Amino acid sequence: MTAKAAALREEGNDVITLSQGEPDFDTPENVQMAGIAAIRDGKTRYTAVAGVKPLREAIQHKLKRDNDLDYEIDQITVGCGAKQVVFNALFASLDPQDEVIVPTPCWVSYPDMVRLAGGEPVLLETAERHGFKLRPAELEAAITRRTKWLMLNSPNNPTGAVYSKAELAALADVLRRHPHVHVLSDDIYEKLVYDAPFATMASAAPDLGERILTVNGVSKSTAMTGWRVGYGAGPKDLIKAMNTIQGQTSSHTSSISQYAAIEAIAGSQEYLGDFVAELKKRRDLVVDRVSEMPGLHCRVPEGAFYVFISCAGVLGKATANGKVIESDMDFAMYLLEDFGVAVVPGNGFMASPYIRISYASSVEDLVRACSRVLAACVALF
Ligand code: PLP
Repeated sequence: MTAKAAALREEGNDVITLSQGEPDFDTPENVQMAGIAAIRDGKTRYTAVAGVKPLREAIQHKLKRDNDLDYEIDQITVGCGAKQVVFNALFASLDPQDEVIVPTPCWVSYPDMVRLAGGEPVLLETAERHGFKLRPAELEAAITRRTKWLMLNSPNNPTGAVYSKAELAALADVLRRHPHVHVLSDDIYEKLVYDAPFATMASAAPDLGERILTVNGVSKSTAMTGWRVGYGAGPKDLIKAMNTIQGQTSSHTSSISQYAAIEAIAGSQEYLGDFVAELKKRRDLVVDRVSEMPGLHCRVPEGAFYVFISCAGVLGKATANGKVIESDMDFAMYLLEDFGVAVVPGNGFMASPYIRISYASSVEDLVRACSRVLAACVALF
């Protein structure tokens, strides 16, 4: 949708893009300066495959400071974004026909990554009425002899759902009965929570530590998507296997980015308060406006920067051009082509009929876009 929106814009159309998965803020000044200093200081050569030691030490301290987790330095690996870390973990661990439980709605990349690594994604639908969160009984029922991983992502892309420590502990009770199942906890949106504290599985169930890979990074919380730095912390054997794969593929992420990430992780976190307050304001604005849109409804997302909106109420309605909206894809195309707003249809996240709006855009754009979506909905009734 972002590419189609860009093409329409190039043709001279006024298109507002709410499909992006990245903050519209600049990388904080202190982090920019650290990147520049790295270049000037000649930190421009190959590094250790797992990442430079000062960065892994910064991550080690961060995991203690923020999550009360203890890791040794060789239990930490750094990759080209959380994305590569997740991929390395799956590629390192999956045998043919191994199953990976992926609660849906989920980030678009998980199912394909599992398939690329030779495994089978087991998509497990979570209910909107349960806040799009996996329930212990659902997890229990989905586990088979072949289950290798449970993927958890909180705050969630695309729903913004945030698991509490108690909810994670309840899932951990199930996992204790199935010692062959590992947990990949994708915490990339950790810092972007608005209503409740962040929790992660390794802290909620310390006794399961040997079965948990905690993945995080600087992309979303420090507005560093283009720098490509993510990390994983977990069992030594797994980290070693992940490093072996990385060593024969990308080697490591950019040395310059690694030095900038030290500042992002260990340096001042002062910017974060403003950053989160601004995103919360935008979230409230969008949720408020959605409540006025006929045919649409949404939950209040507790984290990340997405609102996941049900468009069930507009299905079967005809547009002014006589086209009947039969799916979330049709609705997203209608919003883009007839009203100049790019959103992502829920089918990309294995969940229909929904659309995802990213509110990591300026308030001005959000206000204009919401007025257009409102007009689009009104025109259908
Ligand atoms: N995990 C989730 C749930 C995401 O939404 C994203 C980016 O959209 C990533 C991982 C990738 O993050 P990175 O930029 O660190 O690769």
